[in-house]
Amino acid sequence: KRRFPNEPEYIQAVEEVITTIEDTYNEYPEFERYNLIERLCIPDRIFSFRVSWVDDKGQVRNNMGWRIQHNNAIGPYKGGIRFHSSVNQSILKFLAFEQTFKNSLTTLAMGGAKGGSDFSPRGKSDMEVMRFCQAFIQELWRQIGADTDVPAGDIGVGGREVGYMYGMYKKMARENTGTFTGKGREFGGSLIRPEATGYGNVYFLLNMLQTRGIDIAGKRVAISGSGNVATYTAEKLISLGAKVVSLSDSDGTVVIPDGLTQEQMDYVFRLKNIYRGRIREFAEEYELPYHPGERPWQIVDCDIAMPSATQNELDGDDARALLKQGVIAVSEGANMPSTPDAIKEFLAARILYAPGKAANAGGVSVSGLEMAQNSQKLSWSAEEVDSKLRQIMADIHHQCELFGKESDGFVNYVKGANVAGFMKVARAMMAQGIL
Ligand code: NDP
Repeated sequence: KRRFPNEPEYIQAVEEVITTIEDTYNEYPEFERYNLIERLCIPDRIFSFRVSWVDDKGQVRNNMGWRIQHNNAIGPYKGGIRFHSSVNQSILKFLAFEQTFKNSLTTLAMGGAKGGSDFSPRGKSDMEVMRFCQAFIQELWRQIGADTDVPAGDIGVGGREVGYMYGMYKKMARENTGTFTGKGREFGGSLIRPEATGYGNVYFLLNMLQTRGIDIAGKRVAISGSGNVATYTAEKLISLGAKVVSLSDSDGTVVIPDGLTQEQMDYVFRLKNIYRGRIREFAEEYELPYHPGERPWQIVDCDIAMPSATQNELDGDDARALLKQGVIAVSEGANMPSTPDAIKEFLAARILYAPGKAANAGGVSVSGLEMAQNSQKLSWSAEEVDSKLRQIMADIHHQCELFGKESDGFVNYVKGANVAGFMKVARAMMAQGIL
């Protein structure tokens, strides 16, 4: 807190991890001798730069850009790039910190990183987005590479943005080795990568429900967001017979009392990915209740909540409202969507609560599989990637149980994920000496 007084999101993420790993940490005196916590609290390095680009009117615009290389003890730096007006160094540091432990949990060899800009693609033309992405990579390309640091998408960065960034990277670096995941299918992208975070979150949820003998069919699920993670979460849930009762964006929430249909889902995909429209337009098209400026948590009737938009989007009051109506599970698609107050409520109520670090790790896992395919110059079938994804989510669930099960059998997934993720990174850091 003394070192980073102006970084509230970063401090929030660090405190959550430290408080849950404390007991384990104290069991190993060598961890303290190696000063591991302090080393993990300071990213390996941070690149920050100005990105200047020209808009469609010929006006020069300037944005900030960053890449946080947090830790590479278990593999090359790996983590997405976020383009959103709210982006700042504190947010990217929290995401990079979380990414290190998440990537450790995936069982694949990847370190943690994150990057981004306060540029927002919303309302920009394709050409403006392309010029921005190219300018961003002209600054960043020297710091990344297939075996050093592999970026991917995140909020505001989907297939279009990754394509433009990868194109410029390839040109500058004069190589074609697959630096970047989430690429288009035609140039090295993995099947199931777009779906992976949402599908993976549902697979994790199924593992949790199974521990209590609960069936997903017929359950009412509230989802926030309507981007990559939210839409593929919804698609998988529909295929399993669950009812998706909400979607949202930063302008408001649509409630779907009878559950989203596949036809409506296809409309949302087209609206968001082709027309880059708003969730309000979906509500209007199907004459569904729309709540401007509201989040789903206090306005929908649901059994399960899957926050899939952004950090701190579900606070203590939201958690209490969800619990009051008998929510049985919360599985996070977004990174750190629940505030510390909300997490406290979920744990005290002993519901099934999965932090994003575990539940949304499917995305980066398939990114790891994309890296493996690129190295082999091979492309695996959708079935093969999907079955590996299911296995990885089951493995992550198993690690959470191993490190998070309490004496009465309750699984504290927050503790489980943090301790499991930390132990592997800690051992790798000690084995490699003081760097
Ligand atoms: P997208 O940009 O595809 O979608 C983001 C969605 O969240 C949009 O509906 C957006 O609405 C909404 N949103 C963004 N910021 C805010 C905000 N400040 N308040 C309210 N709503 C907001 O991003 P993704 O779906 O890829 O990412 C969603 C979350 O999942 C993020 O937390 C991300 O870090 C996490 N995640 C993503 C992974 C991936 O593979 N993509 C992997 C693991 C985690 P609007 O259009 O109005 O901005």
